Amino acid sequence: MNIILLGPPGAGKGTQSSLLVQHHGMRQLSTGDMLRAAVAAQTPIGVKAKAIMDAGQLVSDEIVSALIDAELAAMEPTTGAIFDGYPRTAAQADALDAILARHGRQLDMVIELAVDEDELVRRITGRFSCANCGEGYHDTSKQPAVAETCDRCGAHEFKRRPDDNEGTVRKRMQIYREETAPILPGYEQRGIVNRLDGMAPIEQVTAAIEALLATA
Ligand code: AMP
Repeated sequence: MNIILLGPPGAGKGTQSSLLVQHHGMRQLSTGDMLRAAVAAQTPIGVKAKAIMDAGQLVSDEIVSALIDAELAAMEPTTGAIFDGYPRTAAQADALDAILARHGRQLDMVIELAVDEDELVRRITGRFSCANCGEGYHDTSKQPAVAETCDRCGAHEFKRRPDDNEGTVRKRMQIYREETAPILPGYEQRGIVNRLDGMAPIEQVTAAIEALLATA
């Protein structure tokens, strides 16, 4: 299976992708994670991408499509892929079709996570994660059980993404509306789009995704 999880920043794409990885042995291909790793490692791509990401703008189509192509090339052909945060523009959607064909794959499903923007801003600006293992937390909805101690690994350092502030989040949402949402009709014409309520509790969204996969 090759699936795109589509939705604005904070819709739960990352959360749902990691659950699919755990339950189905699929592979999460998150261009945001790949770019953050490149920024942390200060690779040439990372150095170029950092300012663009901090401003909530889009990194070039060529760079992100090359990252996806390289990941797919290194994967077993039988391992399913979940595209998380890619494609984000019409050019990337076209590139993905070509890349998948080159690797003998086809797009099976697009899952759109529909959301309320103001609620999303609250979700995103409150999120933080363990600096050691990456476990995700939230100021209001998921604090660690023991103050300042990671539930999963016990570490005491936490971090926030530099682009998770309100100004940048609003910018990223505007870009989603203007650049990313317009790729949906093309997928709708192919009859592969399923729209889910991304504001529902995490477990409910997961159950809805599982139900979709069961019928695929
Ligand atoms: P994300 O973690 O998916 O929210 O991505 C964080 C940031 O990385 C975005 O705001 C963009 O600056 C950049 N980025 C991630 N994926 C893409 C993509 N497919 N195309 C362009 N820029 C991207």
